[in-house]
Amino acid sequence: MIQDIAPRQYHNEFAVKEPGLRDFLLYFEGNQVLMRKGDGAPSMITFEDVQDPELRRQVIRQAEYLFCIDDISYYSARDTLGLMQLAGSRTADGKDELCICDLSIFRNMDPQFMGFAGITASQIYRFRKSRKFCGKCGHRMEYGTVERSMCCPVCGNVEYPKISPAVTVAVVHGDRLLMAKSAAGSFRQFALIAGYVEVGETFEQTVHREVMEEVGLKVKNLIYYKSQPWAFSDTEMIGFFAELDGEDQVTIQESELSEARWFTREEIGDYPSISLTYEMVNLFKAGKNPDFHRKEISGEIGTV
Ligand SMILES: [Zn+2]
Repeated sequence: MIQDIAPRQYHNEFAVKEPGLRDFLLYFEGNQVLMRKGDGAPSMITFEDVQDPELRRQVIRQAEYLFCIDDISYYSARDTLGLMQLAGSRTADGKDELCICDLSIFRNMDPQFMGFAGITASQIYRFRKSRKFCGKCGHRMEYGTVERSMCCPVCGNVEYPKISPAVTVAVVHGDRLLMAKSAAGSFRQFALIAGYVEVGETFEQTVHREVMEEVGLKVKNLIYYKSQPWAFSDTEMIGFFAELDGEDQVTIQESELSEARWFTREEIGDYPSISLTYEMVNLFKAGKNPDFHRKEISGEIGTV
């Protein structure tokens, strides 16, 4: 999965510190990010690549330290600096040009830990951008100085990064797996039943409700598998395997799904395991049978 970057380690302890010229700089505007590109695939820029001395001073002054992976530090800069205008200019080493990329560039980036860093940075950017003003009194918010937050200096309101919990459910019936296609959005591949946790629910209750709402089925014997930060949608995914309980007749909720049906292992397509959903699909496809009575998956839960 995208966050599986071992042996590298992600350190997100809050800190306020100034960047070095070789530290990585994430500059976002909307769904776009400033990158560098030569002959190969786009890669991240550093502060050094902002070559105008005055602009670079401004960028450094406004930079926010985000996190590090091992000893590599990542910063972001506020989008009011207009750095997208640097697209087309040369990088500091003269080898590449700066370019503007869509955030989807991070989905399959090589090395993967750089993709994870990039999309994680974008989640913090969206949080900062969407909490500029206080939701209680309307005053301009300020960056928290002791934790990653936005604080209102007038009424004391504190906001934290948006992380929406959602479940993804592999509903299993014997040697078949239920897969569904979303009715809306750009993602139109078969995937698992998924949905956001509602107020007052446990994750398990969300599983039962979403499966009933979207395909009209009852499930039992839930097995928690793993969780995943899915920064593309500010989501924390929580993965469960669940056993069908009763009838296998699928009735789709047409506002949510365009199609849903049972798949044998042979019928399941090939999917990269970048997301928790497809890691679970691939696990099932590979013949790892959930043992719903012993509450484990072929004795290998957590190790695949
Ligand atoms: Zn306020």
